[in-house]
Amino acid sequence: MRFEIFTLFPAMFESVLSESILKRARERGLLQVNLHNIRDYATDKHRVTDEPPYGGGGGMLLKVEPIVRAVESVLQGERVPIVLTTPQGERFTQRMAADFAQYPRLAIICGRYEGVDERVRQLLVTHEVSIGDYVLSGGELAAMVMLDAIARHIPNVLGNAESAPNDSFSSGLLEGAQYTRPPEFRGLRVPEVLLQGDHGAVARWRRASAIRRTWLRRPELLLNAPLSDAERYLLGELADELARGVRSETDALP
Ligand code: SAM
Repeated sequence: MRFEIFTLFPAMFESVLSESILKRARERGLLQVNLHNIRDYATDKHRVTDEPPYGGGGGMLLKVEPIVRAVESVLQGERVPIVLTTPQGERFTQRMAADFAQYPRLAIICGRYEGVDERVRQLLVTHEVSIGDYVLSGGELAAMVMLDAIARHIPNVLGNAESAPNDSFSSGLLEGAQYTRPPEFRGLRVPEVLLQGDHGAVARWRRASAIRRTWLRRPELLLNAPLSDAERYLLGELADELARGVRSETDALP
C-alpha cells in the first residue's frame, strides 16, 4: 500500500517509519510512504504557505494553492481517497483503519496553525478524519496514528507473533487479560487454566475474559459484538457479581 503524505514537517515522520513493524513493512515492500513537503509547491519568492484568515481573528491558515498544487502534481488525476486530518472530522476507528487498508493508495493532508483554507476541503478532500476530541498542533501526529493503525491491516505486515485477530475492537470486544512468565509475582498468580496447556480451555477463558473486560470498561461495545446466546446469558452472571460489589477485571466468567 502506498501513502502520500502532505506536510510542512516531513522530518517528524522519520523515527516512526524507521522502527519496528513499519520499518519492516517498508523494507519488505508492503508499505511505501512518500512524504511531500507542501512548501516545495509554493511558487512565490519566499515560499509562503500560510496567511492570516480573511475577516481577522488570530493565527494563520494554510493557503489553498500550495496544497492543491502538491496533491494534484503527486496524484496526477488518479482517483485516491484524500484524507484531511481535522478535529472536526469523523472519529477514526479500527473499522475505518481496516476499510482504508483496502485501498492501494491513500493521501493524507496534515493541517497546521489554525487549519487549512476551506477550499482545500471543497476541491480535494474525500474524507475528514479526527483521531479524537482534542486539538493537536498539527495533523502529523494524527497521520502517523492512522498510518500505523492502517498498516496493521495490510496483509503480511504483522508476523504470526504479532497477528491481531484478538486485538481490541477487531473482534468487537476489548482484548482480555494477558500474562507471561513468571507464574507468580508478589503473590499474584497467573490463572491456573493458562498454565495447563489445554488449548480449548485457554480459548474459552480468553473469550470470557474479553467479555468481562468489555462489559466493565466499554459496555456499549457489547450491543454490536457477536456473542453467542450462552455468552449473553453469562453477562447476566456478571451483572449479579457487580450487584454483589465484586469487580474483578482478571477473572474470567464463572
Ligand atoms: N482551528 C482548528 C479547529 O478548531 O478545528 C484546529 C487547528 S489545529 C491547531 C491544527 C491542525 O492540527 C488541524 O488543521 C489538523 O490538521 C490537526 N489536528 C488537530 N487536532 C486534530 C485531531 N483531533 N485529529 C486530527 N487532526 C487534528
